[in-house]
Order: sequence, then structure tokens, then C-alpha cells
Amino acid sequence: AKEALFHSQKLEAIGKLTGGVAHDFNNLLNVIVTGLDVLVNEVNTPTGTKMLESMRRAAMRGATLTQQLLTFARQQPLKQEKCNINRIIESFESVLRRAGKTSVGFNMKLESNLPPVLIDAAQLEAALLNLVVNASDATPDGGTITLETSTVELEDNEVKLLPAGKYVRVAVQDTGAGMPPDVAARAIEPFFTTKPVGKGTGLGLSQVFGLVQQSGGDLQIDSAIGKGTTVSFFLPVIALEDGEDMDAGKAVVSEKA
Ligand code: ADP
Repeated sequence: AKEALFHSQKLEAIGKLTGGVAHDFNNLLNVIVTGLDVLVNEVNTPTGTKMLESMRRAAMRGATLTQQLLTFARQQPLKQEKCNINRIIESFESVLRRAGKTSVGFNMKLESNLPPVLIDAAQLEAALLNLVVNASDATPDGGTITLETSTVELEDNEVKLLPAGKYVRVAVQDTGAGMPPDVAARAIEPFFTTKPVGKGTGLGLSQVFGLVQQSGGDLQIDSAIGKGTTVSFFLPVIALEDGEDMDAGKAVVSEKA
């Protein structure tokens, strides 16, 4: 028992250290990303622009990685708010567009009048980024990534163990390599990765899964070798109170006449 306690204290210390370092790194990388954003518009040579874009993507990847570590080290409690997911996606669109390879297309199909869900907006952005980067990594030049939102009526256990009801479905679909069944089965495990060292942590899908589960939803992976993969998650629709209006990703109480 003493050893177990020592072990768990050690793990806690490692978690704290990881979280602290990741937090500082994240801030540094955000300075770099912001700087590169400005420079991309200042530099007018094709080589320079290309180089800055690839530096920006690398810094973004670093920021995503530190974000994943932060989540994993549980340094970030969820800040759940009533949100219209479309608004979050729209305000994050430019980042998502630039997250993947330039040789892969990016489309969005957002259902109008999407009902609200309870979600941590910043964590949702991180989740979408993880899914789009994964899709881009798996997709050869000329392929397409589609980000789609819709409302679905689920029956009991239609998706995992979710109870029957109305859900918002968010799906990231790619026309990439697909996953063999053994990879699909393990994909959400923390630290499971098929990517070479330095390219993947295996924490992306586990972040998405953790967030979705903590928000009362679940995640589904549909994949066909050589055809592509769709990762979708489902979040329970919540009721709006009287006079409540959804705007800018936040619930706003509208003035009554
Ligand atoms: P990482 O991307 O760091 O490897 P993830 O947890 O995000 O970690 O993904 C785990 C594994 O699942 C990946 O290494 C890859 O093998 C597989 N995977 C995830 N998304 C896709 C996708 N869209 N297409 C094909 N394989 C995928």
C-alpha cells in the first residue's frame, strides 16, 4: 500500500510537471503562431510565404500537442456553456482550414438552426483540430476533408450506450487511407499511435473521446480501408429557456418587447 501511494504521488508530480511545462510551451507557441500570422501577409515572395506557412503549421502542431498534454495532465477543468456548435466552428474556420495539408480540400456542411448543446468551447476547438489534423495526415493529395454538423434523433443504444433522444452530430469525414479494424478498435486509447516518433502522440482521439464523454455524448468511428474514415461524435441537445437566443457561441438573453 505504501508503494502504491508513493507511485501515485510520483504520477501526480509528473502530471503537475507536464502540465506546467505544457502550459508555458503553449504560451510560447501562441506567440510564434500570432507572429507568423502577421509575417505571412508581409512577405511577398512565394518561397517566403510557403516557408512561413509551413512554420506556422509546425507551431500550430506544437500548440495542439501541448494542449493535448494539458488535457491529459488534467490541468484544465471543463468550462461548459450552452453553445451553438456552428458558431464555434465558424469562428475557428480559418484555423481549421490551415491545419491540414494544402493539397487536401476542406469543406463544411453546417446545418442551419442547429440546436444548442452544453460544451467547453475551447476544448471543442482542440477536438476539431485533432480530428482535422488526423484526417489530413491520412489523406493523400487531392483528397477532401468534410466537416459536417446535423441534428439526429437517436434510438436507445443506436450509438454505443447513448439513451434515445435528440443529438447534435459533428462529423469529420476524409477520403484517406482508412483504418484496419485493429487500429480502429484501439484508436481512442491514450498513447496509441501508428505514426512515427515525432509525428503523433496518440493523445488526439483520446482528448476528443474524453471531452465528448464528459459532455454526455459519445463517439463513433466508421472506416473503410482505401476509402476513408468518418469520426463522428454526438452531443445531447439541451433545451433553451424562454427568451433565450443563441449568438456568437454563447447563450444570450434577448430583450422582450
Ligand atoms: P495520433 O494522431 O497522435 O496518432 P490519435 O489518438 O489522434 O493520435 O490517433 C490514433 C491513431 O488512430 C492514429 O495514429 C491513426 O493510426 C488512427 N487514426 C486517427 N484518425 C484517423 C483517420 N482520420 N484516418 C486514418 N487513421 C486515423
